Amino acid sequence: MDTLERSAQSRGHGSEPHSGAIASRLNWLRAGVLGANDGIVSIAGLVVGVAAAGAATEPILVAGVAGLLAGAASMAMGEYVSVSTQRDTEKALLAKEEWELKEFPEEELRELAGLFRAKGLSKGTAHQVAVELTEHDALAAHADVELGIDPDELASPWHAAISSAIAFVLGAILPLLAIVLPPEQWRIPITFGAVLIALALTGTISARLGGANRRHAVRRVVLGGALAMAATFAIGELVGLVL
Ligand SMILES: [Zn+2]
Repeated sequence: MDTLERSAQSRGHGSEPHSGAIASRLNWLRAGVLGANDGIVSIAGLVVGVAAAGAATEPILVAGVAGLLAGAASMAMGEYVSVSTQRDTEKALLAKEEWELKEFPEEELRELAGLFRAKGLSKGTAHQVAVELTEHDALAAHADVELGIDPDELASPWHAAISSAIAFVLGAILPLLAIVLPPEQWRIPITFGAVLIALALTGTISARLGGANRRHAVRRVVLGGALAMAATFAIGELVGLVL
């Protein structure tokens, strides 16, 4: 597990030619799985709570669909804001780097060579590599080695917003169908079972993607989902008694 995690981390640095693209695809997949997880757990909690309060199928469906739309909107907004902020930060860093390259080319060349020395190259080779990369594309070289940013592949806030909303909706559909379709006396146990199976699946996938221990990841996510549903079930029952 340790070596896997470490190699997954070193993959994220983007210092090798192909690793950046793979790491960013992995990040997208992981974000998708997390979004689906969110959709599963929050809508499962919502519909189980409403069902436990003794509601008929139609109000459960209305509550579930409203929760699905609100959750998707909130995910999209949160993701848009967070990726925009990250993008602004990266753009500001790149602009500063560009300015430094124009004002202090000598110092920047020395800095780049120093970074390559720190990576293990000899003094002569480090200087040679720094000179050639500076002639080729100085900003790209500094962005990569110094900042770990690929200027051509800054994340798109809209892309992130839309894909996380879609992931949330895909996850949310499962508990919604599981609570609405079965006969009334079966809907809560069936939703519990379907949700826990789905969470075991998403836990397995995200453990695979992150190179983490599968059993730990599955136990965490399944336990979390079970707790969330048990809590809203109990509160729903209470509210049903009071009303
Ligand atoms: Zn620099």
